Amino acid sequence: MRHQKFTPRADYRIAESLRAKASGSLSEQFPELKALTVEFAYFSPEGVTRNSKIKYTVNPAFAKSVFRLDCMNPECVAGDFDLSAVIAQAVAARQATATGEMCCQGWLSKTTIDRVHCHNLLRYELSLTYEKSAPAGIPELQAV
Ligand SMILES: [Zn+2]
Repeated sequence: MRHQKFTPRADYRIAESLRAKASGSLSEQFPELKALTVEFAYFSPEGVTRNSKIKYTVNPAFAKSVFRLDCMNPECVAGDFDLSAVIAQAVAARQATATGEMCCQGWLSKTTIDRVHCHNLLRYELSLTYEKSAPAGIPELQAV
């Protein structure tokens, strides 16, 4: 077996992480977004739970606007979950929460490229907090 430094899987991950690094922060893209909490769990294509729920709070000042979660299939090629569009839609609509399910469009493994999809599921719940836009002309603090 020939030793390969790069595999389709590694190549894809490298390209995706460069894409994320090159993107601006969430704050740059959505100045009104104050805080973002992401709660998610992975499921097999049959809908069986693979892990307990993971919850974490993202600081929009540091998090990249290309917002990705890795697929939990260690053999997955060119898949993963990209929540960037979900976040953009939720912010545009000023939603306080956004829930949904995403199906991994990668390949099950490098031996099934172009044949068998990964199709692992991610179920997510986003909680979004926005900067309150203070009415113009009213001082923020009114000491009486
Ligand atoms: Zn996958």
